[in-house]
Amino acid sequence: MESSDSQTSFDTDEYIFREGDPGDCAYIIESGMVEVALDKDGRKLVMATLTKGDILGEMAIIDRLPRSASARAIVPTEVMAIPLDYVSQKIEQSDPTVRMFLRLAMARYRDLNARLGQVFEGLSLGQLDAEGDGFAASTMELRSLIPQFMEMHKRIDSAVTKPAQTESGAIFGEKTLEVTRLLVTEEKMLRAAMTKKEFRLHYQPIIDLSNNKIVGCEALVRWNHPSGELLLPSRFLTHVENSDLIIDLGYWIAEQACDFQSRLCNDFQHDIFVAINLSGKQFEDQFLVPSLADIMDKTGARRERIKFEITESLLIDNPELATQSLHQLKETGAKLAIDDFGTGYSSFSYLHRFPFDTLKIDRVFVSAMARSEKSNQIVKSLVNLSHDLGMEVVAEGIESEQEAELMRSYQTAFGQGFYFSKPINETEFVKLLQKPQMELAG
Ligand code: C2E
Ligand code: CA
Ligand code: CA
Repeated sequence: MESSDSQTSFDTDEYIFREGDPGDCAYIIESGMVEVALDKDGRKLVMATLTKGDILGEMAIIDRLPRSASARAIVPTEVMAIPLDYVSQKIEQSDPTVRMFLRLAMARYRDLNARLGQVFEGLSLGQLDAEGDGFAASTMELRSLIPQFMEMHKRIDSAVTKPAQTESGAIFGEKTLEVTRLLVTEEKMLRAAMTKKEFRLHYQPIIDLSNNKIVGCEALVRWNHPSGELLLPSRFLTHVENSDLIIDLGYWIAEQACDFQSRLCNDFQHDIFVAINLSGKQFEDQFLVPSLADIMDKTGARRERIKFEITESLLIDNPELATQSLHQLKETGAKLAIDDFGTGYSSFSYLHRFPFDTLKIDRVFVSAMARSEKSNQIVKSLVNLSHDLGMEVVAEGIESEQEAELMRSYQTAFGQGFYFSKPINETEFVKLLQKPQMELAG
């Protein structure tokens, strides 16, 4: 049976992969035993016998060349597959020096394997033609090289594939293996969560501070975990953002949120805005802006009632890409907000380069205002600057009437925070909207 990244159990004598196959995943052996061998015309040179905790099949994953040897289960074996895409992404994200060293090491390892293969083939050819001129001599030469090759091979092999025995643990220590195992498992669960529709959006009201009425909301993603727990983004979002899952999840979030805006307007006659968070990674997708425009149209959302929130770090990490995409996004008719403002490194003067409609003052300033004069000054300057640049201001993380009052006194028009409401599900949000005025939690 052909292996695939979904196959994790192999019977005795079943091949995990064969020489020449393209590499679709590497494997960690969970139990059992695997023989890695060069197989030539029914003759076999065993290169390694691997057991629980060993890694195999990593070469083709790293350099994308075909498998250089075959791997066969010699007792019933369980493996965990680490998919090519997953590893490729990690390699691409790694430091260029690490990438270079890894590729170099892999090229040398392959070269060694190839030479070992030649020795192996030469040996038997020589044996077939032992009487031939000069051939016996070269066979002898090759034969004399074998112990040397085998010794080198053994050393590299144990460094690469015997993590538990690598004392330093620096490259493939037990800890690294465990982390890899967890990350691969988590990514699998997150992908499954997408398929099984386990993600949910909650909505947190955004309030007009002059009359405590709801003017909009921010969509915040949650994972309805199979354990029954509703997980907050801090428990899973970094992982999603580090993989290309954020692209699919990002579109799903945009679609749900735009659909909600459309229904709020059409079914409930509440034409309020819905804010959607965008991650930096989503901007690497060249189709981001047209796809978001399509989603707004398809769902019937009013474009001017959709607001995309972008954090300062996105602008700092990739200003050219951000400037271009933000202008295009703005041209769709949607609104733009700069999120968590004040937590990054950008200076105030930097703001006018981007077409933001709204500035969201980060919670750290709002909560520090009562005890720090400096925070008060920062908030005042931020509000003044935003007004000068024609932007609305939303104060994030308002947790008390005192904070709401301070923000009002600084002419901040809008607020968001647990004092008004925590993020809530759609049904609760619609109920809250039916009330003439925000019923305060505090
Ligand atoms: P954020 O965009 O700054 O969202 C506001 C976060 O502050 C939310 O946390 C919200 O629950 C929390 N919050 C609101 N008011 C208060 C308050 O008064 N006190 C305190 N202590 N917290 C308050 P949440 O939902 O855990 O989200 C955390 C972050 O995860 C978000 O920060 C955002 O960066 C990210 N995130 C959430 N949903 C999405 C999403 O759909 N897409 C993307 N790309 N990122 C998301
Ligand atoms: Ca946000
Ligand atoms: Ca924020």
